[in-house]
Parts: sequence; C-alpha cells; structure tokens
Amino acid sequence: MVRYIDELQLTGKRVFIRVDFNVPLDDTQHVTDDTRIREALPTIKKVLASGGKPILASHLGRPKGVDPKFSLMPAAKRLSELLGKEYEVLMADDCIGEGVAKMAKDLKPGQVLLLENLRFHKEEEANDEGFARQLAACADVYCNDAFGTAHRAHASTAGMVPFVKEKCAGLLIRKEIEQLGKVVKHAEKPFVVVLGGSKVSDKIKVIENLLPKCQVMLIGGAMAYTFLKAQGIEVGKSRVEEDKLTLATKLLDSAKRLGVDLVLPIDHVCGTSPDAKSAAVDVLERAIPKDLMGLDIGGKTRALYTQHVRDARTVLWNGPMGVFEVPKFAEGTKSVAVAMANNRDAQTVVGGGDSAAAVNELGLAAKMTHVSTGGGASLEFLEGKELPGLKALE
Ligand code: ADP
Ligand code: MG
Repeated sequence: MVRYIDELQLTGKRVFIRVDFNVPLDDTQHVTDDTRIREALPTIKKVLASGGKPILASHLGRPKGVDPKFSLMPAAKRLSELLGKEYEVLMADDCIGEGVAKMAKDLKPGQVLLLENLRFHKEEEANDEGFARQLAACADVYCNDAFGTAHRAHASTAGMVPFVKEKCAGLLIRKEIEQLGKVVKHAEKPFVVVLGGSKVSDKIKVIENLLPKCQVMLIGGAMAYTFLKAQGIEVGKSRVEEDKLTLATKLLDSAKRLGVDLVLPIDHVCGTSPDAKSAAVDVLERAIPKDLMGLDIGGKTRALYTQHVRDARTVLWNGPMGVFEVPKFAEGTKSVAVAMANNRDAQTVVGGGDSAAAVNELGLAAKMTHVSTGGGASLEFLEGKELPGLKALE
C-alpha cells in the first residue's frame, strides 16, 4: 500500500519532493515545454497549504559532473512564474551539504526550495548509500511525485527513502497510476490499443501484456513493417528488425488465438529517406516498391484507424504512426491524435515520450483523458512491471 501526500500531517515539516523537472531548454536557457512543472504544482501547493516546507529535487539531462548548462535555474524561474506572487521560490546551488540543510531549515511559510540538479553528483544514478543519506538529512517527509523516473532505482527515487521518517507519493503519481492502471485493469470495451514507434523490440512486452486485454490492436510506425514482412509482404527499404520476424509471426498467431483484431497498414506514405529531403510518395497498396521505405501510414489506413478509434470506449496510444518530426510524414500520427480527441465517450490515454510530444504539439492534450508524463516509466507500467520508485514507497 502506498500512502499519498494528502493523507499525512505536514505542519512545520520539511517535505522532500522528488519532482520531474527534466524539461527541454532552448539555446537561451528558457523552458520550451513546462508540462512537467505544471503537473507538479498540485503536490507543491498541497504541501504549502498544509503548512509544510517543500524542498524540491530533480535531475535535468545527462550532465557529466557540474555543468551550468544543466542547471535547474530556468525551471526555478518558470516555477516561480507559475506559482505567482503569493509564493517565493529559492534556489540552492547544490542538492546536499550544510548550505542546503540550513536553507531547508530556515524556509518560511510560502517559500519553496529547489535544489540544484541531482545528477551533478554521479552518486545519484549509482544509488550510492552515502549520497542517499545526505539527501535524506534535510527532510522529515519523503514524497515521490516524479513519475517519469519511477522506473529507475536512483538515490533520490529509491535509495534515500528508508532514511526519511515518513514516505508517500504525490498527486501526479496518483493520477498516473489511476489512469494507466484503469486502462490496464478495467478498460471499458471495446478497448483499442494503438501502437507505433520505431521498434517492435521496444514494445514486445507491451504487446504481450495488452493482447489478452484488448479487442483491437492497430499497428503503425516502423514496427508495422516487421509485422508485414513476417507475413511475406514486400516492404522495400522500410526499417525491419530481421531478428524479430519469428516473434512477429508468434504475436500475430496469439492475436488470432485470442480473437483480437490486430490491424496492419493497408497503404503507406513512402520516401527514400526518413527526413525532409525525401519526397512523400503515396503507395496505395500493402506492398511497398523495392526502392522505397514506409514512413507513415497511408490515407486508407488513416480512415480505417480513425473508424476503430471512433468506435472505442477505451483507447490507449503509444508510439507515432510515422516519422512525425517531418510534417509530410506526420499525417498518420495526427489522424490518430485527432480521432482520440474527438471521441468524447471514450477514456483516451497517451503514453510514451514521442507520442505525448506529438499530442502537445498539436494542442490536443486537454482533450485527452490523460497524457502520461513518463515515457519509459509509462511503457514499463504498461508492460505490467513493478516500478522501483513505487515499490520503495510501500
Ligand atoms: P514513444 O516515445 O511515443 O514510445 P518511440 O520512441 O517508440 O515512441 O518512437 C518514436 C520514433 O519512431 C520517432 O522518432 C519516429 O520518427 C520513429 N518512426 C515512426 N515511424 C517510423 C518509420 N516508418 N520509419 C522510421 N522511423 C519511424
Ligand atoms: Mg521515444
């Protein structure tokens, strides 16, 4: 059993909140997508409203040692704007040490302390015990609200937990578990799973875990060509994982056995390379000419997949339908996002970093039931795996 932040008495307590402020920055050190910061606000505000002292910690990027390019300062600035004038955000220049301990102790009501990038210390990812103890030293309560890193056992997500008196999860983690949990455990039928992205190998366990639960599985993205080739269909120069052909055949068989309608593209948008240099060529049939590669699902497939999504009561989507970074190969991805947004009778859940980015770019996030903040973490959750960050809180 995991307890949540609103079940604890917090008055006067220093609450260490592991947030996920791993946000994208531009060249001028501005946050270009603040979704993750906004998603952390309910927990931070809950602690403030309960008279607790929030001490926030996160990683940002993959720095090798201390590197100002990876400072959390831009996140502190954005957080301060989002919290408004009522509250004050203080920034520490490290995440451990006496200076941090003193700032944490001296926090006044209405103040929030953000610690500097956890990954400035290599001990964070190594889950070093000494470092974990130092992190724990500034806290009375540990709260994990970083769903995006819950699949990693690092010092701040797992190692430090036993060294803090009380532990709990935050409100974002609760939302993620509830929403992703609902589609995995109690999806209303018809349950349609839309899978895409670059590799079958990334998604095998998700397919295996969800096949017995869904009625329809729509496959797009590069992984579709491994499935098509496994059925003996010509896929030209499309990206294929040759060592996964047998597995693809097995998955197709088990879909048949389970009575799941596993749907593959019936036409394609092709090109000569997966970038903007290539022209987009419509291929109106299943087989792809020898000199072309499939880069998006075609118009007939878009209509077919839209129809399935329209008829669903639950839709789970992971992985773009094509090379959506290039506008001429983004229509398939867009059509799935639009069909989900338009189905107001269904639970619509998006997992996966690139798919979530596509939905955000299209401005459709608010029309979905839930867009997960965790790329890898949501994938592992959908595989049915236990996440170490959640296990540590039990
Ligand atoms: P997610 O992060 O949502 O789980 P993935 O990381 O699995 O998604 O896949 C996203 C990547 O897959 C994108 O970079 C996209 O360009 C690539 N991709 C999708 N379709 C194709 C294709 N037909 N050929 C090559 N790459 C593709
Ligand atoms: Mg990805």
